[in-house]
Amino acid sequence: MSNIRFKALEVTLSRQRSEFKLPEKKVSEYFGEMTFNREAMQEYLTREAFQKLINTIEKGETIERKIADQIAAGIKSWAISKGATHYTHWFHPLTGTSAEKHDAFIVPVDGGRAIEAFQGNELIQQEPDASSFPSGGIRNTFEARGYTAWDPTSYAFIMESTLCIPTIFVSYTGDALDYKTPLLKSIASLDKAATAVCKYFDKNITKVYPTLGWEQEYFLVDAALFKARPDLSLTGRTVFGHASAKDQQLSDHYFGAIHERALVFMQELEYESHKLGIPIKTRHNEVAPNQFECAPVYEETNISVDHNQLLMHLMEKIARKHDFQVLLHEKPYKDVNGSGKHNNWSLATNTGINLLSPGKTSTSNFRFLVFLANVLKALYYHSDILRAHIASSGNDHRLGAHEAPPAIISAFIGTQLTETLNLIEKQTKKGKVDANGFNLNINIPKIPEILLDNTDRNRTSPFAFTGNKFEFRAVGSSANCAGPMMALNTIVASQLKQFKKDVDELINKSVRKDEAIFQVVKRYIKESKKIRFEGNNYGDEWTKEAEKRGLPNIKNTPEALKALVLESTVKLFEDCKILTSRELEARYIIQLENYTKKIQIESRVLGDLAKNHIIPIAIRYQNTLIENVKGLKDVLDSKTFVKLSRNQMQTIKEISEHVEEIKTQVSLMLDERKRANRLEDQAEKALAYNRNVLPYLDIIRKHVDKLELMIDDELWPLPKYRELLFIK
Ligand code: ADP
Ligand code: MG
Repeated sequence: MSNIRFKALEVTLSRQRSEFKLPEKKVSEYFGEMTFNREAMQEYLTREAFQKLINTIEKGETIERKIADQIAAGIKSWAISKGATHYTHWFHPLTGTSAEKHDAFIVPVDGGRAIEAFQGNELIQQEPDASSFPSGGIRNTFEARGYTAWDPTSYAFIMESTLCIPTIFVSYTGDALDYKTPLLKSIASLDKAATAVCKYFDKNITKVYPTLGWEQEYFLVDAALFKARPDLSLTGRTVFGHASAKDQQLSDHYFGAIHERALVFMQELEYESHKLGIPIKTRHNEVAPNQFECAPVYEETNISVDHNQLLMHLMEKIARKHDFQVLLHEKPYKDVNGSGKHNNWSLATNTGINLLSPGKTSTSNFRFLVFLANVLKALYYHSDILRAHIASSGNDHRLGAHEAPPAIISAFIGTQLTETLNLIEKQTKKGKVDANGFNLNINIPKIPEILLDNTDRNRTSPFAFTGNKFEFRAVGSSANCAGPMMALNTIVASQLKQFKKDVDELINKSVRKDEAIFQVVKRYIKESKKIRFEGNNYGDEWTKEAEKRGLPNIKNTPEALKALVLESTVKLFEDCKILTSRELEARYIIQLENYTKKIQIESRVLGDLAKNHIIPIAIRYQNTLIENVKGLKDVLDSKTFVKLSRNQMQTIKEISEHVEEIKTQVSLMLDERKRANRLEDQAEKALAYNRNVLPYLDIIRKHVDKLELMIDDELWPLPKYRELLFIK
């Protein structure tokens, strides 16, 4: 049989259990062994080089040339001892993947021989030929000059016999062309702003850094079935497919026993992750069939972002070894849940305090409320910036589809904290002063120590306080966390700077420090009240209520991206020195182009499949029916024939109608694509794709999915949902 679907099914059904033997060593013995971590640094660097490197990591000190050479020599020896033959600068261009160009550790010497070499300058800076990375017009292609520069705060690691050095990627003129550059700047800006605020409470706090713990959702599908679906292979999602009679209705997959083939994949993924120092801790089944999640222990944000990028790469690689394809797309299948990536975010200090954890004393509670109020206010005034940083064609399918938060950004803080904030709002009388000069015993309502109450959780909120951190749930599964985290760090940094200004202004007017802080916090709580929502975010009532409150509800990517170039955004990013207006404009253009291209590809794939796969099969099946009807006519008397051929005739008619509609709509879609392609302005083009091309995908799909139910299963060319979702 030539049907590729049946060939793929045969391969899938004959799969043997894939091979992976769990290591005999304990995880503590191999964790981080492929990273140039502190232990490796100590072993391979001179005392001087080690200390200098630590100072760079911790205090941002620059490294002199001589020391750089020493560090490079140390890293080289370590890497070679681990079997590395090449090195690469590893960076995250705005395409959303990670990029690398490998060079061997090799320098020819006299006599036709070669030695392994790696110099300080090769560690610190490289000039990849980067002409085909997106730059949004910043870097003319003929110039093609971009630089990668070492980020010493993220450990170098070895993958596939290659030493990978985490780097930033900037243009010749110094404009950021990647995700990491602005992320690092946002971390520095947040450190400065938050540390200044912490000084009101504790002079020992000299550093504040954001922490991130992501939860990565994904699907696994058998590699043979994946290859038999050109739409999945080319776009990451299925553009056709009738719902399976059974999918997730019974909720029998969520937290169920993990299927053996998937489990073996996870074991190998975890083993490889641990060797690379990625602290993966949790694994479980998700809601949809063949959907899973993994999560690490949280880390400093820059490191955690790198680890997530690395993990996504490992997943794809290891999945192939187990004859799986991993699907990181936000919505691979219609009508079953899509995938997200919750970003758990908090602020930690050099003194070991979590600033979003309610403290034991009145002072620490007060400090907690200061940070809580600032985050809420930042979110209220700049939710559009966060929304822009989670926008993608894939995530458009998820947000607001009653499986993920809506496109309306709001915050959930739970009943206890809501009550606390309400009390503060009403608070008028001044209290007694305590030993630290704070009068909080009276003015600040006591917050219960343990807020981690699992019953008080709202799983529908896009930005939920979960006891000691915020969980940003609207991030897409394929996203680079650096985007949303950079945005969040920036709006909070800017807000904290404003807070310090507001408080100092009052202090300069001779208001006592604690009273000044209290007044400002109280004002912020009032001003940002509209961002708080404790109810069901999936309900239609919330959409109406949010509209009344004036909260934006931006449904698609081209509209959401506009926030990147608003005057208010540019001012905020320039004030905090994170991104310039030029860089923001470039990012805006890149994201728009990216959106347009993705919809364009989906539309083309759908058109091709409809015309070349579906219609010919529909006609073939229809011809069989026609032959059958003709035969019936020959053998039956005319009265019986009319009676018994009615349904068949109806089917023949319906098939013709669907085929006709598919042809017409595919051609109308093509016209719309041509019209959109003629638009010069990227924003107009992306909007045209959104408004005029995208709707055809749904219209055409409806007809194809109807045909799937009508046509002989033996003829249907594409693996069906029940096979993609259930065949192991
Ligand atoms: P859930 O119940 O949503 O599945 P968990 O409580 O298991 O969540 O935690 C999810 C993630 O939150 C984990 O990656 C965890 O490390 C992370 N997390 C916990 N505390 C913090 C923190 N202070 N900062 C950032 N992330 C954190
Ligand atoms: Mg979670």
